[in-house]
Amino acid sequence: VELVDAHIDAIERLDDGLNSFITRTPEQARLAAKEADALLARGEGGSLCGLPIGIKDLFATEGVRTTAASKILGNFVPPYESTVTANLKRDGAISLGKLNLDEFAMGSTNLTSAFGGVENPWKRCDSDAKLVPGGSSGGSAAAVAAGLVLGATGTDTGGSIRQPAAFCGITGIKPTYGRCSRFGTIAFASSLDQAGPMARTLQDCAILLESMAGFDPKDSTSVDRPVPHYEAALGRGVKGLKVGIPKEYRIDGLPAEIEAIWQQGIDWLKEAGAEVVEISLPHTKYGLPAYYIAALAEASSNLARYDGVRFGERVQGASLDALYEATRAAGFGDEVKRRILLGTYVLSSGYYDAYYLRAQKVRTLLQRDFLKAYETVDVILAPTAPSGAFAWDEKPTDPVQVYLNDVFTVPASMAGVPALSVPAGLDSRGVPLGLQLIGRFFDEETLLAAGSVLE
Ligand code: GLN
Repeated sequence: VELVDAHIDAIERLDDGLNSFITRTPEQARLAAKEADALLARGEGGSLCGLPIGIKDLFATEGVRTTAASKILGNFVPPYESTVTANLKRDGAISLGKLNLDEFAMGSTNLTSAFGGVENPWKRCDSDAKLVPGGSSGGSAAAVAAGLVLGATGTDTGGSIRQPAAFCGITGIKPTYGRCSRFGTIAFASSLDQAGPMARTLQDCAILLESMAGFDPKDSTSVDRPVPHYEAALGRGVKGLKVGIPKEYRIDGLPAEIEAIWQQGIDWLKEAGAEVVEISLPHTKYGLPAYYIAALAEASSNLARYDGVRFGERVQGASLDALYEATRAAGFGDEVKRRILLGTYVLSSGYYDAYYLRAQKVRTLLQRDFLKAYETVDVILAPTAPSGAFAWDEKPTDPVQVYLNDVFTVPASMAGVPALSVPAGLDSRGVPLGLQLIGRFFDEETLLAAGSVLE
């Protein structure tokens, strides 16, 4: 009760400024805390019993408003619970509320939320300007970094756990596609969407992931494999491990400070006994354009369900078509509309072969790059993002410039392999930078072992 109360207090004191929560649920949390105390007093309760966490507002939570940070779902109260959040509840975690994100998880700044942007709790040492927390799981990253929750759920379609974790100086894991159930997670691009934990330490992430993961017959892409005891992997060390440095990630214009942090990571791993070798992932440069075709195509199809008829907000019209139009015009923000338009275009007849099918082929090539690399190395080390957090008013007006921030995170998503981000230091502005480790299919354990050397 004391722990939950202290975090509720922190939210009340700090979150009017940060705006990391869309919906706060202190009453429910206080009740759950009392029950947790009773269980703990009897020596019962799960691995997360009584621990206050936050839930990205993309996970359906029974009886608690779930918005995807969109006006179109502004009044949506799901009658069911997502599998990931049900797993966390089963183990005793207590949700303090629903965390802000880019609308429908589309973005990397958290400025596209219909509920307002999120402020990164970090400040530059030389300016008071509000920094972005990254995105799309920016509310999750900011709430964890500010100490409002002990951990949070995130989702990562093309970097949305790793990049905000890096921007806010915390740790986040995108597990292998299929590790965590997608049931009850509002879909962006179903073949890429993957839930994962965000927390202040890798150990906390390991504990959360063990609870979140696992086979779920309600998700046809969920994989039926036992969930390892992730926490145990942390102390394994990296002696004899082979770490690959992909030369294609040394892109033009990569800031020297990021190069330096990357080199530091290499040195740390070497000192701990790993062997570090250069590798090639030759199709890397096609990752970003292929992602922004494949993901948008899936998004345009997934978002067709928001028609104002079945659930969510409705704007009346003189006919059914007019109702659809008015509802979608009023309900979706600019970035979501842009993506629906682009996604519909690349799927339309005459363009499908030229764009969508090609992107899918590139996806296979990206996956083969990784499989080939893993014939010689166990894990890959790279920066998480090509920049640290930037100021709200530095967000480029050209959306393609924003998309470029995903250059290092998108390939692992396209391939489906697991990846994590750990905080690796500060840049000269005093703002955190992250390092990314990318692993073999279902080998989150090696990522954890290597990550704990960098942390
Ligand atoms: N920034 C990427 C995008 O805008 C990734 C988002 C995500 O992983 N949900 O699509």
